[in-house]
Amino acid sequence: MRGIQVGETGVVLSKVCFGTLQLGRLLSSLPSARAAEVLVYAWECGITTFDTAPSFHSRHLLFQAFETNPNIVIVDKSLARTYEEMEQQIAESLVELDRDELDVFLLYDVRSQLDFEARKGAWTYLREAKEMGLLRAIGLSTCTVEGALLAAELPEVDLVQVVFNLTGAGILDGDRASMEAALERLKAAGKTTCAIKPLAGGMLDRDHSQEALSFALTHPLVDCVCVGMSTHQEVDMVCAIAKGEPLSKEQQANIKQMRRRLIILHWCTGCEACIPVCPTQALYLRDGIARVYQERCDWCGKCGPVCPEHAIFLVPALSSEEVEDHIG
Ligand code: SF4
Ligand code: SF4
Repeated sequence: MRGIQVGETGVVLSKVCFGTLQLGRLLSSLPSARAAEVLVYAWECGITTFDTAPSFHSRHLLFQAFETNPNIVIVDKSLARTYEEMEQQIAESLVELDRDELDVFLLYDVRSQLDFEARKGAWTYLREAKEMGLLRAIGLSTCTVEGALLAAELPEVDLVQVVFNLTGAGILDGDRASMEAALERLKAAGKTTCAIKPLAGGMLDRDHSQEALSFALTHPLVDCVCVGMSTHQEVDMVCAIAKGEPLSKEQQANIKQMRRRLIILHWCTGCEACIPVCPTQALYLRDGIARVYQERCDWCGKCGPVCPEHAIFLVPALSSEEVEDHIG
């Protein structure tokens, strides 16, 4: 798989970055040894870059999978707001991944100029940590056009993760076209760009997965694409699309037949925005948090894009028997 240089940092990313949220305990029922197997399989298929964060609960899986393999690149990130918080988070990452130096570390989920100003201390430590040799590359992750435009103006930023997909789902202050304009600014400023949520947290999975992945993977303003996966079949499909290879009939059938499960994560604020958009009345509020009647959900993907907290995901539903089948 083609390597992507991150500026002058010496970090080289694979075109596909493996998003590990889907393998962590929030979204996956896979035992850790099975999850680690999927990560190793992805590496064998040419995916050498892996994305994590403390809230993903997946650093231990990366350590388990790649303890003796230094030839992977890890993109880590933090929601830290202060200098001290960022210092602690980077120290924790170094310990949990058992490294002397981290490849890429990002200020996570920067939504606006005001948000960035409030987190200036965390950004200052990130810059200092790079100067100290603790980090090789730094940057921002954002779900807003404002955040992407801000990143273009920061000279220290090496890599920018932006929510970008076929339908513009999950871009909080704009649409696909306005994020494309922001990506142009990022490229003009010499930044390396990574599209995150190319399937909008699984919301484009049922009807548009192939088209949505091709869109992100071939977009001229996108250097790499972060895709959440949890099975061998998903890895095979994403790698085939990344190489421009046609999907086999079996792979296409797998996409259509795969059962899915809707998950609402604990950071749901109970705003109720998702409830009226569900065509099957599968969503309801209880104890201040949205819940789902799984049996009513037909995985249409309409609820995820309206959630301002990015709390809704559609993931493969694996029973214990299916775990064996899907892992291969
Ligand atoms: S995926 Fe569709 S059917 Fe399922 S809860 Fe969301 S809106 Fe309702
Ligand atoms: S839109 Fe998101 S935050 Fe609001 S109730 Fe639904 S899941 Fe919770």
